[in-house]
Amino acid sequence: MGFGSDDGYATHEVHNQAAVLADYNAFTGDLALQQAIALFDGGWAEAGLIKCGALTGSAHVQGLARMADRNRPELRSHDRFGNRVDEIEYHPAWHELMAGLRGSGYHSLAWKGQQPGAQVARAGVSYLWNQAENGVCCPGAMTFASIGALKIDADLLARYQEKILSNGYDPRPVPAEEKESLGVGMAMTEKQGGSDLRQTQTSARPAGPNSGPGAAYLLTGHKWFFSVPASDLFLTLARTDKGVSCFLARGWLENGERNHLLIQRLKDKCGNRANASSEVEFRDLHAVMLGEEGRGIPTILEMAHLTRLECAIASAGIIRQATSQAINHARTRSAFQRRLVDQPIMENVLADLAVEAEAHLWLAMRAAAALDNAEEKALNRIITPVAKYWICKRAPLAVAEALECHGGNGFIEEHLMARLYREAPLNGVWEGAGNVICLDVIRALQKPEAAGAVLDEIALARGAHPALDASLGVLSDRLARPGELEADARRTVEQLANALSASLLLRHAPNAVSEAFCATRLGNGAMALGTLPKGSACAAIIERAAVAAG
Ligand SMILES: Cc1cc2nc3c(=O)[nH]c(=O)nc-3n(C[C@H](O)[C@H](O)[C@H](O)COP(=O)(O)OP(=O)(O)OC[C@H]3O[C@@H](n4cnc5c(N)ncnc54)[C@H](O)[C@@H]3O)c2cc1C
Repeated sequence: MGFGSDDGYATHEVHNQAAVLADYNAFTGDLALQQAIALFDGGWAEAGLIKCGALTGSAHVQGLARMADRNRPELRSHDRFGNRVDEIEYHPAWHELMAGLRGSGYHSLAWKGQQPGAQVARAGVSYLWNQAENGVCCPGAMTFASIGALKIDADLLARYQEKILSNGYDPRPVPAEEKESLGVGMAMTEKQGGSDLRQTQTSARPAGPNSGPGAAYLLTGHKWFFSVPASDLFLTLARTDKGVSCFLARGWLENGERNHLLIQRLKDKCGNRANASSEVEFRDLHAVMLGEEGRGIPTILEMAHLTRLECAIASAGIIRQATSQAINHARTRSAFQRRLVDQPIMENVLADLAVEAEAHLWLAMRAAAALDNAEEKALNRIITPVAKYWICKRAPLAVAEALECHGGNGFIEEHLMARLYREAPLNGVWEGAGNVICLDVIRALQKPEAAGAVLDEIALARGAHPALDASLGVLSDRLARPGELEADARRTVEQLANALSASLLLRHAPNAVSEAFCATRLGNGAMALGTLPKGSACAAIIERAAVAAG
């Protein structure tokens, strides 16, 4: 028996440490998710979602996520002979996660087969993967969303679509023609402005005699943020005589050369560390004009509208994971002779987190459903930025609260809560930060059909709760004067989000959840989480939210 052994020399017995939440099925263990998927016509995808839920809830994937996050990607600018290669070296865990994510159809499910509920089914996959590892979700999201912009050019779409939608994963740095599957990125943000893309400095000149949509150009300039610079294809913006235009560029040219893109360095980020985000320079980058010349911002917004939806789904997934972890912790740890979950204040905090998580799930899935339904174009236009703003805004608050439920262990990097905490603000920044998204909502509300669509959706639960009726009245008045909305935009968007969630919960969730939500989110509730009114059915709410076995 050596001196270092615990046997005989143990100073203490390890007990009352919470159980690990791992090797569960994140889909079958989530009642509300299953209900939302079925209600919004995604039921046909159930078998795939069950498989995805088993994968994303597995201890194996949790381990990969930790490894990918701790072993950050590195820039390999030159090979050993001094030739410029501009490649990214990832830990093997990244590649295994990427293969799993693409295998689940994260990027493709919405576009294959065009079944009703396809966006909802894909949103379900995204919701699950965003509970596992968020770095890989970035390339998955951009590849999914690229189809929105590529649809503008039938030739380019026909050329690349099949490989973009392949569920395989091929990270080799070779031309698209040699690959079975392709990943797509987007590089818009420059140093002088990411929100105001009209400030784009990168310039484009025709590479040959032709110009305009579909013609070849050479781009010179820089991009200050470019995630996944190892993408096979990427959309970017550059200025021509007619203004800012959109371009599609390849990572590797047909002759096998790296396109003329120099990765200057990788960003040292607060979160999303498994994923490489870079600063790049374009030196006569080969690219093809996508969409109308001078209309590059509306063209790329076709992609950004989808990545904004993705931010909403992703943040809802992050909040769900944080809530699941907090409930698990509080159920399996005791203090002052009682399980934490049985301490009244903690029970209120957990129930409030569960209400928060379920509200965001329904809002995000409703936004995905609106995208599925061609008749809901007006609702789709507005519900996506509303969901993006509010769910992303709430994620840091909810994750911090869930972290606190874990005590000190939640702050330690061995626990996934610490990673979630670093990740939580990001969806609120990229794809349009909060104010910019609110401005987008206000812009959409200038059209009476958008305001009408969102009010109609809220009104589907009219009469179900007095607080919702009151909120609907306030919003109807305010939206009737669209010219006065900007200064008060955040309040309006927040109220729209909460009224939409209340309407959804009143129609589709148990009374305990909807009542707690309406009582605290529609009126003048307290500011912190854990402030559900006395008499709320906290135990029932927690029971519904706890990850079920199976
Ligand atoms: C990890 C990470 C990865 C990224 N990856 C990519 C990528 O792959 N491709 C890419 O193109 N970009 C990427 N970005 C950049 C991101 O999209 C931008 O940071 C974002 O759009 C904001 O732009 P900005 O940083 O220039 O901030 P700014 O545009 O300067 O905005 C700063 C603040 O001002 C506010 N603001 C702006 N305009 C107004 C207004 N009119 N009224 C009120 N407030 C306003 C904004 O809401 C924001 O809070 C990434 C960013 C991060 C953090």
